[in-house]
Amino acid sequence: MTVERAAELLSSARRGIALTGAGISVESGIPAFRGAGGLWSKFDPVKVASIEFFMADPSAYWRAAKERGRVTLEAKPNPGHRALAALEADGHLKAVVTQNTDGLHQDSGSLCVIELHGSGRTVTCLDCGAAEPRAGVQARLESEMPPRCRVCGGGHLKPAVVLFGEPLPREAMRQAIELARQADVMLVVGSSLVVYPAADVPVIAARSGARLIIVNAEPTPLDEIADVVICGRSGEVLPEVVRLIGA
Ligand SMILES: [Zn+2]
Repeated sequence: MTVERAAELLSSARRGIALTGAGISVESGIPAFRGAGGLWSKFDPVKVASIEFFMADPSAYWRAAKERGRVTLEAKPNPGHRALAALEADGHLKAVVTQNTDGLHQDSGSLCVIELHGSGRTVTCLDCGAAEPRAGVQARLESEMPPRCRVCGGGHLKPAVVLFGEPLPREAMRQAIELARQADVMLVVGSSLVVYPAADVPVIAARSGARLIIVNAEPTPLDEIADVVICGRSGEVLPEVVRLIGA
């Protein structure tokens, strides 16, 4: 059975890492950025979530981002997030590298979280550099559009996430690659592995000798080189893996 094989690989991992994508947070009620049915289906995300669009009209950006921001701030970790935190606590994972910006890994107790696409929990003023929590800015959106910086009054408050057209945080990517090179097991969860350079992380790990486990709702381009492919919901599969390791 594939779940048993995944548990076997992870139970002997000494330098395991996980890479997570939108699929793990879908089970917490956060719609995937891509695909049909998401809150963003009425907008073109590549346009609306681009740095050019933001700089040209911060109000239009915030109007488009408002509903998703509310849903994300209210979301809670699900059993998949908690299972990854348990695997880290038990020494089977050294870190979670994530494409998500929702902060749910930290909420679930994961200690070493590398955010490749930044964090939606913080908002930064591009005019003066001040930072403030997203929750406060989110509350002001009802009466203030675009939201204004509390320090300088500027109108370019931007979530600390990587928008289209922006580079990934250099230090986060460096850490992810270093962990991938040293990893003995690479666990991919809820990522379709089509967004680069995040999708390079499991490629580097596999080339460096890591065993590759993929848990995703749909096939991925790396299924062919994976040791274990589990097509299913991470909120069900990962707790089962933890249970098998603990047994
Ligand atoms: Zn400012």
